[in-house]
Formats: sequence, structure tokens, C-alpha cells
Amino acid sequence: MALLVFGEYECEVFGNGPVEAESKNTWENCEKHFGHASFIPAPQFNMDHMPEGFKMDLHLHYVRYISKRTVRLKVGYVSWGRPPGYTFAASRGEKRPHWGSGWINDVSYYDGLCFCQKCADKPDPKIGYCTVKVHTALHVVYDTEEAQNTEIDLFYDGDLTLKDSEKPKVLKLYGIRVSDANIKRDLSTIMCVTHEKSILNELSTFQAEKRDMWKALRTHAATPPNNINACIIISHPHGQPKKITVGKLVNNLDSGGIATMFESYDANTCRGCSGGPVIVWRAGEVNPDPYLVLAPHCFSSRKDCGTSGGRPFFFC
Ligand SMILES: [Zn+2]
Ligand SMILES: [Zn+2]
Repeated sequence: MALLVFGEYECEVFGNGPVEAESKNTWENCEKHFGHASFIPAPQFNMDHMPEGFKMDLHLHYVRYISKRTVRLKVGYVSWGRPPGYTFAASRGEKRPHWGSGWINDVSYYDGLCFCQKCADKPDPKIGYCTVKVHTALHVVYDTEEAQNTEIDLFYDGDLTLKDSEKPKVLKLYGIRVSDANIKRDLSTIMCVTHEKSILNELSTFQAEKRDMWKALRTHAATPPNNINACIIISHPHGQPKKITVGKLVNNLDSGGIATMFESYDANTCRGCSGGPVIVWRAGEVNPDPYLVLAPHCFSSRKDCGTSGGRPFFFC
């Protein structure tokens, strides 16, 4: 049985025009959050935006760390595997793109023969590659057929404070399969493979950062103030450059009270936010452990209430 959804999944679907123009148009004409004042461009996110009780370097560093790993997904095909009645089921078998968000978890390097989409059918595949695991919501990328039609944009941040020559290059990964799927929790993990040197070089820093972040979190021993509660969502609303919204956790009655593993919150979301990482902080949990859990944004039941998928993900 699929997750009971008391609202609307938040994938974005564009018309037939150029993607950037369609994205700009839906962003500018959005009725849910007209003006998007609460959506902070990720490059400008700073301590002033941090929720009360979390205005500390470590917490800000953690948000930026997750932000760097947040990606935009374009899923170019709707699989026949989607059950009748499930989102996009009416378009099964069609190349009807939808857009969402996700985040990079594991990156692993190997010396063997690459099996990315470019190398798979070649007699001389490249030697040396890395695998990258990307987490998102299942309703964004349903199965391997869809993963193989998924483009993943890294560093799509649109930093207006930098000259074009200084901006980090947007890098692309391509899915090869869904390695983990859970329909009850609305979770999907996409495996990507690449031999591209520019991506390998960039991702090599991820592992070092992960070790540093882990160490910092494990040694953090702050005593939490009472009654704090915060939620931060990082995503690509309407396919736009990365944005960050901040809010509070609310009772998760909107998920039907079926399980406590789902989180509900008032941090703003729009179409395109589905699958983006939700950081959950609450009183009594400001020790390293809550940082070890992230959940993908799943659906919105009201303008000011969203709900995540299940939370089996650990520190990424
Ligand atoms: Zn919007
Ligand atoms: Zn390759």
C-alpha cells in the first residue's frame, strides 16, 4: 500500500517551452506562495535566517553542507510500473518530464571498468569511476526505468553574488537504476555512475567534508534550550535555482496519524520541492543524533503545511 497522501504531491510539470522560461514563468505566477518571499536563495542563506535556538556555527555549517548536496531532478519518463491511481499513472509509458529535488548521500570510488550510460555498450569503457547515491521521494523517481531517464543537476544554485566565471559549474549525473525503494514511506534511492573527471574531482571533496562534519557533530555537546522546534527544507521549487525555507514542525495529523515516522511542518514548499531534504530539529534532540536523520519532502496539504516521507535515512 502506498503512503496515504492527504494533499498534493509537489513535483513540477512544465509546458512545451524552453525549460528555463517555463520555470521562470511558473515561479513568477505561482499562486500558492506568490512572490516566494520566504524562499531564500541558497547562496544568500546566513545566520540571520537560522531559526531561534539554532543560531550557531555548527548548525549553519550543517545546513550549508546539506545544501551543497541538494540536487535538482528531471525525470523524463513515466514508468509502466506506477500502480493505477498513483501520481502520473495516467501518463504511464510517456516521455512526460516532471521535476523534483533530492540529495546526494554516498560517493564511492572504484578502479575498475566504468559502466555509466556512455560506457555500458562500448568495447573500451573508461577505467576508474565513482558511484553516487541520490535520495529522493518514490513518487518522483518510481523505478529503474525512470532512474535511467533521470538527469540530476548538482550545484544549480544561481549565485547572483558571483560573476559567471566564478560560479561553480552545474554538473550532471544520470541515473542507472533505483537501488532502494519503499512505497509506504515514499522513499527512493537512485544509483548513478560516472567517469567524468570534473565530477570525480568535485565529489572527492564530499567525502572529506563528510568526515569533518561527522567529527564536528559527534563532538558537539551543546545543551538544547527548552521548547525549540525547527524545520529547514532545501529544494528546487518550480525547477528554480536552490532555495531554503525555514519553519516549525506541526502535528502530523495531515499524514492521517498513521505513523510517527512522517514529519509535518509549516516551512513553505511549492511544486518542484518533492524529494528535497527536510532537516528536523526539536527540543531535547539537539545532540548529534537528530542530525543523522533526513527525510524527503513528500506532499502539501495546505498552503502552510507539508509532510515528509518516512525517515530511514541517516547522516549523509
Ligand atoms: Zn511557488
Ligand atoms: Zn563511463
